Amino acid sequence: MSGPVILIVEDEEPARRALADYLGRRGYAVLEAATAHEATRQWDAHRADLVLLDLGLPDLDGVEVIRRIRREATTPIIILSGRGDERDKIAGLEAGADDYLTKPFATDELNARIRAVLRRAGGPDADAQGCLRLGPIELDTVRREVHVAGELVRLTPREYELLKVMLSSQGRVLTKARLLRAVWGLAYTDESTYLHVYVNRLRRKLSAAVPAAALDGLIETEPGIGYRIADHDSLLEPIV
Ligand code: CA
Repeated sequence: MSGPVILIVEDEEPARRALADYLGRRGYAVLEAATAHEATRQWDAHRADLVLLDLGLPDLDGVEVIRRIRREATTPIIILSGRGDERDKIAGLEAGADDYLTKPFATDELNARIRAVLRRAGGPDADAQGCLRLGPIELDTVRREVHVAGELVRLTPREYELLKVMLSSQGRVLTKARLLRAVWGLAYTDESTYLHVYVNRLRRKLSAAVPAAALDGLIETEPGIGYRIADHDSLLEPIV
């Protein structure tokens, strides 16, 4: 078998073919499905290392496919979604998808996302000393301390938790509801203003130690959806 196996779930044949050709040329082994039922059948028969999933399928909502896969596996799932389908994207991310791409997307963007989620799937996030790192940020989960470019940054417990959740999700998109649940609890799922205030405060504190540009792109706002966390390895190696 060649490289990682990618299951492409897309009902539009030209789009599916183009994806399959492109990924095949990049060394991936490709499985294809045009419906949710076919996707489930392929998943049951072969599994896959990654799933690219169009949410608008003719038989079932693609979100059902995510739920089905998530009952059994943490396999990375990237949603392929139309412009303006914010609700669908959020539902997909909430059901456990890792990331999304809005159609039409550039193939180098797709390739970068695939590499990021596959890397994340490859190993634990914190290193042997319990440190999470992203660019100049270093979060020590044992001492509960955060350093930026070697300088200690004082965070409140909530700010620390928020940063920890974010740094544990490198290469992923986190919905607002998911962050609110993780840091504040179930009762706060709708309090996006909270989150906005805390993220801004966090960004301000983190950038006190380094030029703001050094933090660019680490925690990006995804309008209407949440935040995209950069992936540590993609900061070190240029995307090819
Ligand atoms: Ca479709």
